[in-house]
Amino acid sequence: MDVSDKFRVLLNGANLLPELKHIAEKVLHGQRITFDEGVLLYEKGELGYLGILANHIREQKHGDKTYFNRNFHIEPTNLCVYDCKFCSYSRLIKERSQGWEYTMEDMLGMIAKYDDEPVTEVHIVGGVLPQYDMPFYMELFSRIKEHRPELHVKALTPVEYHYIFKKAKVDYATGMRMMKESGLESMPGGGAEIFHPEIRDQIARDKCTGDQWLQIHEEWHKLGMRSNATMLYGHIEEYKHRVDHMEQLRWLQDRTGGFQTFIPLKFRNKDNQMSNIAETSVVEDLRNYAIARIYLDNFDHIKAYWAMISRTTAQLSLNFGVDDIDGTLDDTTKIYSMAGAEEQHPAMSTRELVELIKQAGRHPIERDTLYNVVTDYNEYEFPNQAKPQFYKLPVIN
Ligand code: SF4
Repeated sequence: MDVSDKFRVLLNGANLLPELKHIAEKVLHGQRITFDEGVLLYEKGELGYLGILANHIREQKHGDKTYFNRNFHIEPTNLCVYDCKFCSYSRLIKERSQGWEYTMEDMLGMIAKYDDEPVTEVHIVGGVLPQYDMPFYMELFSRIKEHRPELHVKALTPVEYHYIFKKAKVDYATGMRMMKESGLESMPGGGAEIFHPEIRDQIARDKCTGDQWLQIHEEWHKLGMRSNATMLYGHIEEYKHRVDHMEQLRWLQDRTGGFQTFIPLKFRNKDNQMSNIAETSVVEDLRNYAIARIYLDNFDHIKAYWAMISRTTAQLSLNFGVDDIDGTLDDTTKIYSMAGAEEQHPAMSTRELVELIKQAGRHPIERDTLYNVVTDYNEYEFPNQAKPQFYKLPVIN
């Protein structure tokens, strides 16, 4: 059954609400859906319906192509001056002995360990502490670029930038320009959480506001640079807050075009101040990916973090709007495992990730940070590929 057959079945379905039929017509004709329609999708859209719509958009944009990136993470510290209620990763300053605080030399040593590895990106993000200020990060970025010029530096979120710029008394535009000059090449999507103050004030009161997060990305985009965006979902927010969040991202993207990828982040409830809140189901996770794909018509990519949602859900997500799986992480990020993610040791070889994508019927492509193709793995044969082992199973009568 091809895409148009699926839509015909959907549109002729006797049980589908007229409003949902109208949304399906809009998606089929490439039209943008409204805020109210976004909320309606969350309230009434069933998984199968959302999957058909999201997969249609995904395949129109990318066919079967599914991207991944070979990167590694450095988390300078797990101490933080802030105290976000959902954060399992930070430790309060008064419990400093439980945390780590890497020095400049520690981090440059970590970079050097990857000298012979075919990684294309270092992803740097962590807690916020006074010693990690503007001069520190500018020196770090420039020394990384001096050491390995082709390694793409993707680092820090508006949470850190707001803090260090304020401390240095520079405005956002000046600050972002100085970071770019020191070697920063793109910005990850973290720190967005939920923009709406009704929710943000309850879960992440002290750090940058939603507006400030958006302003910092806007300044970065004005420099011709790219960034990502996230949304932390599945805690105390309502559907209208998720749609409001995506609406603000869609609006900024219309203005700048600087976002590459949207990454929904599932709230995990281990060891944080919101542990009493149940986590979302896999069905809700897939519905959320699908609605993001439908709503954010001006974002090229929707990404799933396999380490956070499990390998199986990541495979399923490839039919619900996701076209990017992050990544061949080495065991270098503790952010998700400390929050109770599915994978406590999130390492996967390139070969495993390629197999995972192929098993889902998709076409694996290794990309660099800016989505240039590094290797097309569709017909690729891994050297010394071991033949699959077959074992004779006992016959049970
Ligand atoms: S989410 Fe980020 S800003 Fe908030 S406490 Fe954790 S590390 Fe700090």
